[in-house]
Amino acid sequence: MSAAMIEVSSLCKTYGAGSGSPVRACDGVDLEIARGELVALTGPSGSGKSTLLYLLGALDRPDAGTIDVGGERVTSMNRAQLAAYRRRVGFVFQRFHLLPALTALDNVIAPVLPHRVDFDRRARARELLASVGLEGREQSLPSKLSGGQQQRVAIARALIGGPRLILADEPTGNLDSRAGEDVLDLLTGLRERHGATVVLATHDAHVVERCDRVVQVRDGRIS
Ligand code: ADP
Ligand code: MG
Repeated sequence: MSAAMIEVSSLCKTYGAGSGSPVRACDGVDLEIARGELVALTGPSGSGKSTLLYLLGALDRPDAGTIDVGGERVTSMNRAQLAAYRRRVGFVFQRFHLLPALTALDNVIAPVLPHRVDFDRRARARELLASVGLEGREQSLPSKLSGGQQQRVAIARALIGGPRLILADEPTGNLDSRAGEDVLDLLTGLRERHGATVVLATHDAHVVERCDRVVQVRDGRIS
């Protein structure tokens, strides 16, 4: 087995194929990411950063190419295997995507609620909220939390299943610099605390500076 956490080969995704103006959002991408690496995907808007993250997380399917994660070929998985794979990936989005009617605690529990797990969901969720600095805010609704606090709830939620891979799409894009810094501290700390590999998309030069490696995306290609 390779030491790489992620191996992407000749990955392609075209949107609007068959229409007048197809977009090659991912155009023959080869990429290797080591276990525990913190990698930034940067590039102009529309260059294909989100597409690549969605393909890595199996939220979308490529037209061609292969993705291996942790020695498993994601691009050959059947539906049940893909569902299990997605549960082992933590996603963080620019717009947080918390469920507005649920408390912070219930938002963190939500991904594992339908599944059998070998840990106490509420206890784990409380620990995670404490680890992102939100002890005492377990019963708060998202609307009562600042953007930075909501993103920290989203990070706790991404961690509830004990993922080895965290994919974050412009996680500081909607935050002021102070809140963005806190979120970045959490993401960079994940390697030490959870042994996680983190791939994030960002426009922010300051975020890029704190990553191990920068991957430039342009027109669906890596340069
Ligand atoms: P980035 O995250 O770097 O801004 P995206 O991956 O979101 O880039 O988009 C790459 C290209 O693919 C853009 O031209 C975008 O308009 C197009 N695209 C992304 N998602 C879709 C979709 N669901 N349907 C059609 N086109 C899409
Ligand atoms: Mg994007």
